[in-house]
Amino acid sequence: MIIRCYGARGSIPVSGKQYMKYGGNTTCIEIRSKNDEIIIIDAGSGIRQLGKRLLKEQRFEYTMIFTHSHWDHILGFPFFKPAHDEKTTINLMGCPLAQGDIKKLLAKSMGSPYFPLSFDQLKANINYSPECSITFKIDTIEISSINLSHPNLGAGYKFVEDGKTFVFITDNELGHRHRGGRTFDEYAEFAKGADLFFHDAEYTPEQYEFTKTWGHSTYIEALNLALAAQVKEFGLFHHNQDRSDTDQDVIVGKCREIIKKEKNNMACFALTQTTELTL
Ligand SMILES: [Zn+2]
Ligand SMILES: [Zn+2]
Repeated sequence: MIIRCYGARGSIPVSGKQYMKYGGNTTCIEIRSKNDEIIIIDAGSGIRQLGKRLLKEQRFEYTMIFTHSHWDHILGFPFFKPAHDEKTTINLMGCPLAQGDIKKLLAKSMGSPYFPLSFDQLKANINYSPECSITFKIDTIEISSINLSHPNLGAGYKFVEDGKTFVFITDNELGHRHRGGRTFDEYAEFAKGADLFFHDAEYTPEQYEFTKTWGHSTYIEALNLALAAQVKEFGLFHHNQDRSDTDQDVIVGKCREIIKKEKNNMACFALTQTTELTL
């Protein structure tokens, strides 16, 4: 299983020389199965880059799943070039955990007067599965989901192929239980022993004083979850819009110090919009 990140920024795309290392694009993750089947998670601004890559590779069929439909997770969809190509087939999985009919939500985001082209003008063949179970399978990858603790609901996912596990939980507030949200222990159980784990680490504890109930975690809470779940590699995700590369490096350094003090050998890093990992 190959995991590629095309955007790890939270809330809004950003640009500037202070963001060159970790990048300014919002959430988009690509997973390739061992048979090279393609799963796309979320359509933040990072999906633009992924779309160009897929066209270059002449790949026209993918499954798309969504964590939820907040702007930063869908705003790249109209700029995903394969959606404008009639050779393309997109299988949209509309999990009820991710706020209902994702096709309707995407169409609404492109509706007049918000966007010049309507969803119906897209040339791709877009299939929609109105329901998804808590567990489902795409090619050789077993997928299970867990409710997020986030305003307006959402889903986190676990991907398992040949005994290797990747867990992706973003937009999840560990310090406050939103409607439908789970407990810290339930998230730890879901991620238990994962080879690779990405979690929302939007805030510093100081920032969180002012942002409680906004739907995101501090990097300390995210790290504590990764430690409790005994994952092998932990990636900080959904970087705050104002966090410079230097500040992000400091946070990664602090996390590594804590891990060392705990006499743990978990690897820790922050996602960039060009990170590629193989399990
Ligand atoms: Zn977000
Ligand atoms: Zn969100």
